[in-house]
Amino acid sequence: MTLTCPECEGPVLLTEPVRLSEVAQCADCSSELEVVGLDPVTLDLAPEIEEDWGE
Ligand SMILES: [Zn+2]
Repeated sequence: MTLTCPECEGPVLLTEPVRLSEVAQCADCSSELEVVGLDPVTLDLAPEIEEDWGE
């Protein structure tokens, strides 16, 4: 299914079945988008995760 990017309103393709917390990337603006709702499917900007886990 295709949703609308909340950032640039470009198309965002999601693989079905869509799951909560699934992350997709907008092809237009490269934003990371997280699925925050399923009925209807809602996208929100995913928080930027810095992969710096430390020790
Ligand atoms: Zn976008």
